[in-house]
Amino acid sequence: MLTNADLESLLSQPESFPFLSVYLDLGPQARASRSYETVVRKRFSELEELFEKGSKEEALFWQAVKRVWDFINNELPQTGHGAALFVAPGLDFWRSYTVAYRFETEVVLDRLPYVRPLAHVVEEHEHHLVVETRSDTASVFVVHLRAPTPVSRVAELETEVPGKTAQGGWSQRRFQWHRRDHIMRHIKRVAEALEGLYDQYNCSGIILLGQDQTIAELRKHLSRRLRDKVIAVGPERPTDSQEALLERVLPLLKFEERLEEMNTLQRIVTELERGGLASAGLEEVIAAGMQQRIDILVIGSDVEADGYECPSCGALMTATQTEGQCIYCGADAVKVKLSNALLRLAQTQGAEVEIVPPNPLLERLGGVAALLRY
Ligand SMILES: [Zn+2]
Repeated sequence: MLTNADLESLLSQPESFPFLSVYLDLGPQARASRSYETVVRKRFSELEELFEKGSKEEALFWQAVKRVWDFINNELPQTGHGAALFVAPGLDFWRSYTVAYRFETEVVLDRLPYVRPLAHVVEEHEHHLVVETRSDTASVFVVHLRAPTPVSRVAELETEVPGKTAQGGWSQRRFQWHRRDHIMRHIKRVAEALEGLYDQYNCSGIILLGQDQTIAELRKHLSRRLRDKVIAVGPERPTDSQEALLERVLPLLKFEERLEEMNTLQRIVTELERGGLASAGLEEVIAAGMQQRIDILVIGSDVEADGYECPSCGALMTATQTEGQCIYCGADAVKVKLSNALLRLAQTQGAEVEIVPPNPLLERLGGVAALLRY
């Protein structure tokens, strides 16, 4: 399962040229027609032109190409709708990830891995634990919104709880205490199970479904760590189908995610209005990033601008700032995808990154904005 740690490990690779990043669309149609092979072959022959014949870089490039074809021909996973490959022969580096989502097939040649499509998967398609608790049973699901099967049941808990009315020699009052005791034990068991499941499925939030009183009890039994991860609560499902679960959970999730993004954007706008700690627009945000000032970076998932990076002083520049020469030191700059370079820049300074779907407020800010540290 793909995690933030995977991304961090990719982003922490030292520079090496050539570094090839290959994304494959492995959706059912693409698999049937092997259309990804055509795209990859075409890109490789385009890239080949960039290398000086007989150079060390060219030799490394061919090693990378061979490794990618090895994967496509012999190691292509049977399941999953997308694969991301990263190879840098100069570092002896090879990594492949298979995910449940489709990528657009593309090949990017750079000195560092091109992680944006993968980062997008991690960011946008997090797993959530959904727990439906009743007085004697509980169902636990992992919800993964963009996966082909968004809901999977991962645990079913059942605790024997005596029925609602007393039988035999019990007084009704004593019986109710006895019953309540069983229910408490059940809820405690559920809470304990969640601690393990949360980590096992690498979740980023919890949704609790059930009657108010049951949820309140469950919350009490959760560890503080997990209690902080509860992002929403809701009533039980009217039916037992997984579709019904998704219908119930989807608005809670989307709302939560959008709410967080809008909060950040609002904070940025407020800061901008009072000339405070925020910046907006590619040029501004890049400038702040080069000074290590980014605290939270918000970038639209549709931002696709090309720009330049200076191999000599490390500066990033937009295409409107230069046509290829570093505006700071005059060296020849290399063409890069700015969104990717910015993402990397932000992550290397420990900034939080939010990749968000296009929205009017962010568009007004130029597609990219940031809260700053100082
Ligand atoms: Zn420079």
